[in-house]
Amino acid sequence: MKSYRKELWFEIPARRGFRNITGQVEECLRESGIREGLLLCNAMHITASVFINDDESGLHHDYEVWLEKLAPHAPVAQYRHNGYEDNADAHMKRQIMGREVVVAITGGKLDFGTWEQIFYGEFDGRRKKRVLVKIIGE
Ligand code: ZN
Repeated sequence: MKSYRKELWFEIPARRGFRNITGQVEECLRESGIREGLLLCNAMHITASVFINDDESGLHHDYEVWLEKLAPHAPVAQYRHNGYEDNADAHMKRQIMGREVVVAITGGKLDFGTWEQIFYGEFDGRRKKRVLVKIIGE
């Protein structure tokens, strides 16, 4: 069995943002040389997400509005966590959008369903953060 590991770095210039990272993950898969197996991709920070969905700007706007309704950033004093920081909402948004994705690898390709793409979701940006890509198979 082959094993591959790589860290991808991101710095989103705003507090929140989504970035399609499918191309970078596919590059990892090419580098690995693995044809059949599983790929794990996870955010290495507790205020960021990796998730799979459609690359459609209206949907991403809808996520932003929905997440702000569920866990508004302000007023920051509404959260106990913010005695220490101002990012309690970012922890909650991350929890909803998820930590990681697992994708099957078939014939050397990510075995996606229709319209599926991989995204990095940032909820407390303006600093460098990592995403782990781990691939196992043969
Ligand atoms: Zn925090």
